[in-house]
Order: sequence, then C-alpha cells, then structure tokens
Amino acid sequence: ESLDQGLQKTKEGFFAKITKAIAGKSTVDDEVLDNLEDALVGADVGIDTTLAIIEKIQSRVARDKYVNTSELNSLLQQEIENILIDSEDQSFRSFDVPLGKKPYVIMVVGVNGVGKTTTIGKLAHNFKKAGKSVILGAADTFRAAAVDQLTIWSERVGVPIVKQSMGSDPASVAFDTVQSAVAKDADVVIIDTAGRLHNKIHLMEELSKIRRVVQKVIPDAPHEVLLVLDGSTGQNALEQAKQFTAATDVTSIAITKLDGTAKGGVVLAIANQQKIPVKYIGVGEKIDDLLIFDKHEFVDSLFK
Ligand code: GDP
Repeated sequence: ESLDQGLQKTKEGFFAKITKAIAGKSTVDDEVLDNLEDALVGADVGIDTTLAIIEKIQSRVARDKYVNTSELNSLLQQEIENILIDSEDQSFRSFDVPLGKKPYVIMVVGVNGVGKTTTIGKLAHNFKKAGKSVILGAADTFRAAAVDQLTIWSERVGVPIVKQSMGSDPASVAFDTVQSAVAKDADVVIIDTAGRLHNKIHLMEELSKIRRVVQKVIPDAPHEVLLVLDGSTGQNALEQAKQFTAATDVTSIAITKLDGTAKGGVVLAIANQQKIPVKYIGVGEKIDDLLIFDKHEFVDSLFK
C-alpha cells in the first residue's frame, strides 16, 4: 500500500474531528482552540504533543491578532511539521546500513503480536533488494509460532535463518547467528527477541544477556535496537514505548498496522515525545508494505 492509502482511515478521522472543532466558527478563538485540543487528543496525537501544538497556534493567533478558521488547516500542518522537525534529525532515507559496520546487527524488540516477525521479514526483503546479504536469528525461543513464522519469512524472502530447539537460551541463538554472519561475510543480521513486557526484570536481563554475547563476536553490536509498536493500539503504543525505552537502549522505532486504523495520530506523539527516530512504518501485511518514515511526507499525506 502507498502512504496515502495506508493513512486513509487516520486522515478521515483526523479531519472529521478538526472540521467538527471549527464548525460554525469563522475565527480561531479560545473555544476553537479548546475544541481543537480535544480533537487532536481524540485523534491519538497524545496530550503532550497536542499541548505543544496548541501552544504554537495560540502564540501565532496572538501575534497575528486574527486567524481565520479557513487558515487553520495549513497553520496546523505547519506547526505539526515544525514540532516534528525540531525533535529529530532526518538523515535516514533508504534501506541501507552504515559503512564499516559489517555485519550490521539489528536487535528487534517489542511485545508479541505487534508485528515484530512481519517487520523483520519485510526488512530482510528490503535489505536484500538493496543488495545486502541478510541472516535472521530466531531468538524468541519461547513461542514455537514465532520461530515458525520467522522461518516462513526467511523462505519467502530467501535468506538464511539461525534457530535452535524451543526453550533454548535466546542469547545462545543470538551468538550463533552473529558467528554465522561473520563466517558467511553477511551484511546484515536481524535478531528477533521475545517480548514479554509483563516481566520487566526478566526482559531486561534477557536483552542485556543477548547484548553481552553478541558483543563477544562484534564488540560494538548491536548497532541498532529496533522497537516495534502497533500503531492501531494508539496510546498503548506510546505506553509500550515508554516501558521498553526504560528497559533497554532503544535506538529506532517501527510503527505497524497504520492501515485500517484511525489511530495513526499516535505516530506524531511517538515521533515527538520519544526522542528516538521513527524509522519505519507498516501499512499492510504484504512484503512491500514497510515504508521508511519521512516526517514531511507523513504530515503532507495526512493533510492532502
Ligand atoms: P509478532 O507476534 O509481533 O511477531 O507479530 P506478527 O508479525 O506475527 O504479526 C501479527 C499480525 O499482524 C499478523 O497477522 C500480521 O500479518 C499483522 N501485521 C503486521 N504488520 C502489519 C501491518 O503493517 N499492517 C497490517 N494490516 N497487519 C500487519
């Protein structure tokens, strides 16, 4: 799916709410701002990001004295873009890995069901398409289904997978995977991990153990810790982001399932509040439905 298609429901919900917020009003006054605030929160933009946006619009209204409600959309688009641009840099443009880091090791974390396995499959596909050799590591050894699903993806994409029997030590699988990657001179290693957030101490220990053993082979790995969040869960995704970033050093974020949800506004909240780059968004179940997140494109598409 394209970005525009993927965001269709979010767009509809977003503008329905904004239209309602300014219905019957010609100028942006306190009441309109109040309604707009409710609309943004209702569109899953999150309270902190919403307040930041409202504050910007408020000062704009104060400065210009008079702002027509018909100008509100473009004003809103501008301020949302400004807020996002301020919060992170935008150097990531393609499915590529930095030079001099070979193999480039990505550890993928996230709660079960968010689309972790699917995202790994799509990522592997994109890296392969970009000419990189990829190896997958099935270090979520607690769910047979996780290993099975990842195996299916490895076959679909045509990349090797390293796995062990159920219940084996995830760190041992991760170790085998990076060793195999070095032996094969592979470009990219993607390691799946178990996402049991209900036991935070255990999760932290498991992830740091995986880190430790991976570093025995490649001292500066993992180069990337990608957190996968389900965008259709709205504010829950924001909550998970807070919990995971407290449990481990997350370096990038993927937000899945933006197609078929009206809660896509949460992407704005996560991009603004987490100070960790949102790198990818998922807009469908198919292999090509992972897009590189571009703030400009995203906000543009939302307002198109
Ligand atoms: P995991 O338990 O986190 O590994 O989750 P899976 O990768 O198995 O995905 C759970 C379900 O979400 C599957 O049915 C996937 O097809 C679906 N899924 C994953 N990403 C997306 C997405 O971007 N859009 C849609 N519509 N479904 C997705």
